[in-house]
Amino acid sequence: MSITSDPKSAMSQSSTVPPEPIEVIESFETFDPRTGSLIAEIEQMSAAQVNKAVDRARNAAVAWSSLTYKDRTRHLLKVRDQLLNSVEELVDTICAETGKQRAEAVTTELMAVCETIGWYAKNGSRALESQSVSPGLMAHKKAWKRYEPLGVIGVISPWNYPFTLSMTPVITALFAGNTVVLKPSEVTPTVGLAIGKLFEDASWGDIVQVVTGGGETGEALVRSGVDKICFTGSVRTGKRVMAAAADSLTPVLLELGGKDPMIVCADADLARASKGAVWGAFQNSGQTCMSVERFYVEESIFQPFLERVLKETALIRQNATGGDIGSMTFGPQIEIVESHIADAVSKGARVVAGGKRLDQPGLWFEPTVLIDVDHTMSIMTEETFGPVMPIMSVTDPEEGLRLANDSIYGLNSSVWTSDHDLAISIANRLEAGNVCINDCIVSYAIPGLPFGGVKQSGIGRVHGPEGLREFSAVKSVMSTRVATARELWWFPVPQALEGLGITSMRARFGSTFSTRMKRYKKNG
Ligand code: NAD
Repeated sequence: MSITSDPKSAMSQSSTVPPEPIEVIESFETFDPRTGSLIAEIEQMSAAQVNKAVDRARNAAVAWSSLTYKDRTRHLLKVRDQLLNSVEELVDTICAETGKQRAEAVTTELMAVCETIGWYAKNGSRALESQSVSPGLMAHKKAWKRYEPLGVIGVISPWNYPFTLSMTPVITALFAGNTVVLKPSEVTPTVGLAIGKLFEDASWGDIVQVVTGGGETGEALVRSGVDKICFTGSVRTGKRVMAAAADSLTPVLLELGGKDPMIVCADADLARASKGAVWGAFQNSGQTCMSVERFYVEESIFQPFLERVLKETALIRQNATGGDIGSMTFGPQIEIVESHIADAVSKGARVVAGGKRLDQPGLWFEPTVLIDVDHTMSIMTEETFGPVMPIMSVTDPEEGLRLANDSIYGLNSSVWTSDHDLAISIANRLEAGNVCINDCIVSYAIPGLPFGGVKQSGIGRVHGPEGLREFSAVKSVMSTRVATARELWWFPVPQALEGLGITSMRARFGSTFSTRMKRYKKNG
């Protein structure tokens, strides 16, 4: 966000007129998308400030990493209490910057985080316990693996769930014994600052630092020497983050975008499937990485399904206080939504509900249903991230599956049918990190279930034991149980080692009795 002077205009200045001072803007503004009103002016932090925050976090890591899991848990439960004491203010802050409904903020942001803290408090220690491993051939050795903290984790988060998607990696990294520098989205920085305050109030040193700013600040964090980056955001930025991290071989966990498909089979419970579809497409105004963005409906039920969807869509209450969905969050995202709809319509799609902005201040877009869509349209292939529901008719579930897998993305997905075997068969073949059967999106709310994408939807997992181990280094240790004067293979290498090696190899690995018993013959 810094503005430098234009060199050409500087050169054209007369020598007698003092040049315009270079204007350096070191702050940016954040707005309420429901009204367009200014919320705050926030500091745009430089690389030097980011590096200082990383240093503070590194100093704090010395003491934090040496605590037992139990002690870390005790502290993180205090942070959860602090959260519970400030729920109302947190909801105000989240809704003001995102435009989402209060009930949505409570359930998908605050409750989800409390649940994840609870899961790791109860189950995390087991996931990080040292485990012994068979020493195989070397029976006189002992082997085990242990999980150690990585050090300082850089967390970069998006604006659509600014609390959950910051707190989930932050607390997981802390449970695993790391400290954290968090860079919240520049669209929702006050939520990030509120997270910093939670940790200040339940104080235990500098274990969480918050740095504010846009992409430059994010890139500075990637290049700051942190021990891992956990990035949640778009595929485009994810690729930049990975490229920048490659310079120092900093490991990355990437939680990226999606284009989640829903396959509705002819035998699905239509009432449930249509209600679920409308919720999956429009909750949080379609701004969920796991929003259902493509619908494949068997042709025999296409018409009744569509009628139910239109009825449900017409009932959606869209307003700032107590409705079903709020405003969108980020101006440029509405432009993407409009361009996807325009592209689809230009190629033959029909808008059968919504299709435009609401005529009022703020970022409001009508819940929109499109039919006559196909995979030549960006609405079926690129992430739209808005309240749009494109529905396509397919001849059978296999065609739905083929089209569902025809995507660069693979985040979440769903199949709707009353035939359990069919559901499992499709679920097993869906190219996605997550699958829901007769439901959508909510698998994320099960903190024991690892969450993440395949294909371009990401690398690595949050939640579950896998999520905790993402923030750990596995150290493999071997020790000599019976310490003799020398090992057989040390110098000087015994003449008999070749024969012994071949004989024991055959005895151990031969799949038939005669191979196992075959005698060693020198030179074949
Ligand atoms: P974004 O990629 O524009 O920004 C995400 C974060 O990256 C922001 O904090 C931003 O400041 C920072 N950033 C920008 N440029 C950077 C750079 N060069 N280096 C480092 N950091 C940089 O994403 P967004 O618009 O904030 O969020 C929406 C996207 O996030 C959607 O694509 C959505 O699908 C995805 N998302 C994914 C998940 C998941 O879990 N898979 C969850 C939520 C959102």
